[in-house]
Amino acid sequence: MTTTEQWVERSDRVIMKTYGRYPIVPVRGEGCRVWDADGREYLDFLAGVAVNNLGHCHPRVVRAIQEQAATLIHCSNYYQIPQQIELAELLCSHSFADKAFFCNSGAEANEAAIKLARKYSRETFDNPERYGIITAADSFHGRTMATVSATGQEKIQRFFDPLLHGFAHVPFNDLAALEAAITPQTCAVMLEPIQGEGGINAPSAAYMQGVRELCDRHRLLLILDEVQVGMGRTGKLFAHEHFGIRPDIMTLAKALAGGAPIGAMLATDAVAASFSPGTHGSTFGGNPLVTAAAVATIRTMLEEGLLNRCEEMGEYLHGELETLGTKYPFVKEVRGIGLMIGMGLSIPGAEIVKKGHQRGLLLNVTHDTVLRFVPPLVVTKQEVNRMIEILDGIFKEIEA
Ligand SMILES: *Cc1c(COP(=O)(O)O)cnc(C)c1O
Repeated sequence: MTTTEQWVERSDRVIMKTYGRYPIVPVRGEGCRVWDADGREYLDFLAGVAVNNLGHCHPRVVRAIQEQAATLIHCSNYYQIPQQIELAELLCSHSFADKAFFCNSGAEANEAAIKLARKYSRETFDNPERYGIITAADSFHGRTMATVSATGQEKIQRFFDPLLHGFAHVPFNDLAALEAAITPQTCAVMLEPIQGEGGINAPSAAYMQGVRELCDRHRLLLILDEVQVGMGRTGKLFAHEHFGIRPDIMTLAKALAGGAPIGAMLATDAVAASFSPGTHGSTFGGNPLVTAAAVATIRTMLEEGLLNRCEEMGEYLHGELETLGTKYPFVKEVRGIGLMIGMGLSIPGAEIVKKGHQRGLLLNVTHDTVLRFVPPLVVTKQEVNRMIEILDGIFKEIEA
């Protein structure tokens, strides 16, 4: 059997160093637990970065993938794809949207949204100059050139200029700043309903409602990037439901297909009509294998009551983290909605993550000082209690 050490050595020889990978080799998962190449067990509070919302290897997703793989894996979007149609029906019937486009990742979904917004606005207002998109500081929209340009973080853009023209970045949760950035060239506003990579920042409902009103008044499209917060993560199927607003375009990816790579861009009929034949596409996008996985994922989430469960467990985890935080002066704040929770620290979180690994806990730090808790939505109270116990031990050690 190949050990962790041997895998790390082989990886160092052949895998590009785009990630600061930890020396952990997960080889098997079930629910909220994973096992590594040396047989060590971990409690997983990262869930593949908010991807494994049903836990690892949920039997219904596994079965759907196995059956579809043995029937038809891929056929091309030149033809009709029943699983893709079923998935679009499910997404549209549970959201504001009328039409769906499928691709393979969050970045691609956002690329599609940017292209659609530009084409729609130019056509609708017969103005070729109308292509500007306003996004937020500390946002994250992906790693392709257009989505790097949309992302409001210098560390992600560095080295890759010239960036795509037409993006303006404004402070998040600041309506006056957004209004001041609108020009005759603006065609859309693009926001995460809750910022993920930027440190789990939830805006006020008044802000999100204000953004919707501004978009209506200036006839701008509202694009919501729900790649991380969508698919039940916050206790609603889509996070914008918390704010009582509807976007014109929404993007999804991470948790949509239970771990199979997929992206989706949803829009109203009026907007979607601009994507006429030949204007956009993807070879793999929405192929039978991944869309069968996504259909099984959504059905399971809805039929097994996971939205309510997420709300309930989110409140429990939030409370337990707050109680833990009161014991340690370096814990500043616990924030978030549902099972999308950040713990803001006054110290860097990297050491805590490493100590977690040594103690059998997978967790993550984002924005340097924010511990991010995004466990599978099937997480149990016992698992939360165990995680808190481990974290308490680590915090004690850090304080000493
Ligand atoms: C992860 C993420 C993306 C990028 O998704 P990829 O699948 O990695 O391309 C875009 N937006 C948000 C909000 C994300 O969290």
